[in-house]
Amino acid sequence: MIRIGHGMDVHRLTEGRRLILCGVEIPYSLGLLGHSDADVATHALMDALLGAAAMGDIGKLFPDTEERYRGADSIELLRVVCEKIGEKGYRLGNADLTIVAQRPKLRPYIDQMRQRLADAIGVDAEQISVKATTTEKLGFEGEGLGITAHAVCLLEK
Ligand code: MG
Repeated sequence: MIRIGHGMDVHRLTEGRRLILCGVEIPYSLGLLGHSDADVATHALMDALLGAAAMGDIGKLFPDTEERYRGADSIELLRVVCEKIGEKGYRLGNADLTIVAQRPKLRPYIDQMRQRLADAIGVDAEQISVKATTTEKLGFEGEGLGITAHAVCLLEK
């Protein structure tokens, strides 16, 4: 059996925060605002995985009202999600992420991001795709106010 999942997330860019995408810290003047480390790409991927397994979403699993998730490393949360879907007998076929950001340029970090996610999930980097796009300066991403991430995945049982 195969099952498809989709996830999407948005975080606001702000001063005084680190920018972490797919578990990789990116040098930039702004970072993403959030209760955890606000790794928008890893959040979208976790929602895709949970969606494919019909197990809810990360808001249900890791409520942002809980103090223990303040500043949480999203890669560690991804490990927890993978354990949970593994317990249901699922394993990842592949995942494909798109990060929508006007700045900074993400291309130099793409392979590192793929490897970081693959290591956390316990799959080969070939099973993980990470892409980046701008919106030609249109909308909130284009104006540099925030970053959006989309993810789709296939789970196999
Ligand atoms: Mg989020």
